[in-house]
Amino acid sequence: AEKMLRKPEWLKVKLNTNTNYRGLKKMMREKNLHTVCEEAKCPNIHECWSVRKTATFMILGDICTRACRFCAVKTGIPNELDWSEPTRVAESVKQMGLKHVVITAVARDDLKDGGAEVFAETVRAVRRKNPFCTIEVLPSDMMGIKENLETLMRPKPNILNHNIETVRRLTPTVRARATYNRSLDFLRYAKELHFDIPTKSSLMVGLGETIEEIIELMDDLRTNNVDIMTIGQYLQPTKNHLKVKKYYNPNEFLELKKIALSKGFKHCEAGPLVRSSYHADEQVSVANR
Ligand code: SF4
Ligand code: SF4
Repeated sequence: AEKMLRKPEWLKVKLNTNTNYRGLKKMMREKNLHTVCEEAKCPNIHECWSVRKTATFMILGDICTRACRFCAVKTGIPNELDWSEPTRVAESVKQMGLKHVVITAVARDDLKDGGAEVFAETVRAVRRKNPFCTIEVLPSDMMGIKENLETLMRPKPNILNHNIETVRRLTPTVRARATYNRSLDFLRYAKELHFDIPTKSSLMVGLGETIEEIIELMDDLRTNNVDIMTIGQYLQPTKNHLKVKKYYNPNEFLELKKIALSKGFKHCEAGPLVRSSYHADEQVSVANR
């Protein structure tokens, strides 16, 4: 049997419980809302919610029509589409006093529009109630249908984020239904639609990719005009998910960041605990330079 790699020291973070987010978690349950921060047990939750005033909401329910082999979100028959969700998200953003919000969603391959209309409504509702909060959207590839991306981008989010997740060779074993080329097309098309909205994509490392493959991915993202890249360590959410093949150390992340910046990304966040939404608040102005 394959030996489990031991988790290195730099990934052992002490959870800070001395915060006010217990009340916020209660509010999430009352409003029937889901955050990636909680569902993924993200180690950055204290820093994000309490210090940076940022959070990642997951809309369109909490059941996904896909089953990616790295992701802890439930798979199955999705919830009814809920047109009151946009308002509830907007109210929560206000109650949390957020300065930057990331809105992501499960992949709704059961809907013709992939959920794009509710997604766009959420952006509008958040903006109406929180005019100073910057908004980042993080959709699936919306089945690669251009009109869905157009619908989603109509309210002009501040950042369009779509995660490529892994290198070309590993995509079929890591992601369900999504393809490497379709994600690149999606990112390029976003830029063609709104050249002034920064685009962003994230890579998880530790799934067996080589450095050459990472560099190829960076080049592919740059060829498709992606402005911002984030690179973080893949962590296995349960033992039924893909195993971690390698833990990158903080210096290796620094190296990757250097390479990314040399490729022309305007911003690159890289580190063991970096998540797609980590330090996203800093990226809005950087990308607009
Ligand atoms: Fe939430 Fe992202 Fe911050 Fe984690 S890094 S707590 S998922 S906003
Ligand atoms: Fe998870 Fe997104 Fe894949 Fe659904 S599409 S399983 S939410 S990564």
